[in-house]
Amino acid sequence: MDLLGVAQQLRAQEHERLLEVRELVQDKIRRQSIDYWNREEFPEDLVAQLAGHGLGGVQLEDCSHLLRGLIHAEIARADISLSSVVGIHNELVVGMIHEFGSAQQKAQWLPKLTAFEAFGAFALTEPEHGSDIAGGVQSTARRYGDEYVISGAKRWIGMGTFSDFALIWAKDEDSGELGAYLVESDRPGYSATKIEHKIGLRIMQNADITLERVRIPVANKLPGATCFASANGLLMQSRAWVGWQAVGAMMATLDICLSYAGKRQQFGQRLASFQLIQQSLAEIAGNLSLCLSMMSDIARKQERGDLQMVDAAMAKSTATRLARESAALGRALLGGNGVVSDFEMAKVFCDVEILHTYEGTYEINSLIVGRALTGISAFV
Ligand SMILES: Cc1cc2nc3c(=O)[nH]c(=O)nc-3n(C[C@H](O)[C@H](O)[C@H](O)COP(=O)(O)OP(=O)(O)OC[C@H]3O[C@@H](n4cnc5c(N)ncnc54)[C@H](O)[C@@H]3O)c2cc1C
Repeated sequence: MDLLGVAQQLRAQEHERLLEVRELVQDKIRRQSIDYWNREEFPEDLVAQLAGHGLGGVQLEDCSHLLRGLIHAEIARADISLSSVVGIHNELVVGMIHEFGSAQQKAQWLPKLTAFEAFGAFALTEPEHGSDIAGGVQSTARRYGDEYVISGAKRWIGMGTFSDFALIWAKDEDSGELGAYLVESDRPGYSATKIEHKIGLRIMQNADITLERVRIPVANKLPGATCFASANGLLMQSRAWVGWQAVGAMMATLDICLSYAGKRQQFGQRLASFQLIQQSLAEIAGNLSLCLSMMSDIARKQERGDLQMVDAAMAKSTATRLARESAALGRALLGGNGVVSDFEMAKVFCDVEILHTYEGTYEINSLIVGRALTGISAFV
């Protein structure tokens, strides 16, 4: 539901593209994703459906930021895990190679990645450094002739269990500079172990990656990624993407709640006829409309090229906070059925927890806003 008509801002052709994606994910992804989510399994057949509609390369699609954001929201509306697969793949893998890669890296990987015929992983977080990773990277790269030797450990890496390569952020032992290195997963010394039993994003395969003196050619270093500011530029854009995911989560919440409240009867009446239920629905719709409107302003800033980290941090923290609040209302609205994944609300409820934590936690993004407001950094 788009009470404020944000999608009406799209040009006719873009609106058609949005409807094409909505139809695809509602028909072929939403219900089908539940079993995979329950089993913590990666749905290759569902990803093939997304690939068939160009969603492996939405990052490079010639379209407005608003359309791209609304596409990410539509995918999240159907399944938040798969929207994380599409989002991380596009924002942080395709986007990173496109922006920082060499001509050879682009030619080798972008055609396969955008067709979802290859997968990469964005590997920044480490076991001992999450929120403080900016100054905390312990993984190292040392040059020996025409090779780099990469050592270290990465944690939580999305698609890390099966990706063809990982983009490893590591410190050059000689210069002390942070850089990004494309490390193929079949190189000796590279190992990835699945992180099991997550309560959310269960379709997304996250890995602990260990690098034991992995040798790569010097040509595998990404020439454009030369310091943490490079990573920060990407993370600023991907925080905005998480804001769109939160919008999709609220769309899903409203869809599920409206449908349930319209059918379920108690005290001889449909839930939808009770005032308190209508209040919950109105609050969810209000949270959704507020965030949709905020995200369309973020898209306008992206269009002008003047998005700042404070904007992205505020959008991410606000949208995920309200998505979490909405999911809690939705979960309660479904009563006991709200804790069973088959009824979808429990799945959204759990997935939203991850939106709250990844791409900079809620707290860290709030502190970025606090620093901009006060001029005082409370976290470094
Ligand atoms: C499902 C999932 C997928 C992910 N995918 C990826 C990926 O693909 N690639 C990747 O590189 N990373 C990924 N991450 C990692 C993610 O970005 C980190 O989990 C996140 O940055 C938080 O780090 P942490 O988990 O180590 O928590 P910590 O940094 O240990 O934080 C613990 C708590 O302390 C709070 N805290 C920390 N410092 C402060 C402070 N100064 N003031 C106030 N509160 C503070 C945090 O907000 C949090 O509540 C993923 C994480 C998850 C859960």
